[in-house]
Amino acid sequence: MLAPWDAPAPEAGPASRPNAAGLCRAELGSLLTDLGEPGWRGKQVFSGLLRQRWTRWEQFTHLSKALRTRLEAEVDLAWPSIVQSQPSADGSTKHVFELLDGRQIEGVHMPYEDRVTLCLSSQVGCAMGCTFCATGQMGIIRNLTAAEIVGQVVAMLNHQGHAEGRPINLVFMGMGEPLHNFDNLMAAFETLTDPEGLAIPPRRITVSTSGLVSGIDRLGACTRRPRLALSLNGTTDAHRSAIMPVNRVWNLEALAAALGRFPLQSGERITLEYVLLKGVTDGLEDGRRLVAFARRFPAKVNLIPFNPHEGSGFEPPEEARISALCRLLSEADIPVSVRRSRGQDVAGACGQLVRQPRRGS
Ligand code: SAH
Ligand code: SF4
Repeated sequence: MLAPWDAPAPEAGPASRPNAAGLCRAELGSLLTDLGEPGWRGKQVFSGLLRQRWTRWEQFTHLSKALRTRLEAEVDLAWPSIVQSQPSADGSTKHVFELLDGRQIEGVHMPYEDRVTLCLSSQVGCAMGCTFCATGQMGIIRNLTAAEIVGQVVAMLNHQGHAEGRPINLVFMGMGEPLHNFDNLMAAFETLTDPEGLAIPPRRITVSTSGLVSGIDRLGACTRRPRLALSLNGTTDAHRSAIMPVNRVWNLEALAAALGRFPLQSGERITLEYVLLKGVTDGLEDGRRLVAFARRFPAKVNLIPFNPHEGSGFEPPEEARISALCRLLSEADIPVSVRRSRGQDVAGACGQLVRQPRRGS
């Protein structure tokens, strides 16, 4: 039987007018050629969009007045619109974006002293069906386009007033399974790392997967690629399969093998995310098995206390248990951090603000 993630996720419907926002340099080149302009104008428009982050054609003063008027008349410049922003006491802001077809996704802006980290969505909903995850309960609605992925970054930076030169980290830990939307993800990666635009270094971009081994192998074969994080969340096949259906297809052994053959650069580690569900994944035995798993390749562990949401049936772990597991890992020399869910007071992890129809409804 085919699993829901074996079928490609639906793509966005065709737009009625061309939209320049989020296109890559080559696409802008052809858009401009179609308007009878030389292709290199695409580069000028690209840097206006991604480096200056201009939002209106009249700001493109390095183009002729005639061309600006033409663009105004024929080409949209519409970034995903932020329809809800919830600042949290910890300084982070959770945003709900509305896409052109009315679908909603979430992203989080997290400022730190030395950088800003943006948490991005890759799909509307998700096909993977993890039982503890609000997005998983929606089912898959559609892939985000590369432009919509890039658009979340630009819209959040514009909304928050980003200072030029401040390092940006991107994590694909919002809604969706990024490796189930591989082509659009990698197209967005090219645009976001393009030196003529935001020029985000690839090592500052992390893609988190639930364990789609086919996608992990594809990513490993790319010469330019983001870093990899795996949502482990279970240390025996029985436990992991109970909360992550993907484990029934690619079990822990298959995952360890895929991570073992993933070609790492020197100093690079794979992040193992581990959600702590009280009484389900937070046992000390789990901690010991987690150590054994993490020793099989260069890894670091990120413990994530469960972020409760209505009707999930799971609870967050006790503080004492979080510290005990943290100690256990660091005593085993596994680099470990605890993700204090930013934005917890504003409905927490991604997928919890947006309300979409549930699967089957
Ligand atoms: N689909 C990808 C990326 C998005 S989910 C993946 O699963 O890796 C990002 C992370 O959030 C994953 O590690 C997932 O296990 C975790 N997560 C999902 N729901 C959560 C919740 N309610 N509380 C804490 N972490 C959660
Ligand atoms: Fe999808 Fe990740 Fe949620 Fe699982 S945890 S349902 S893969 S978004």
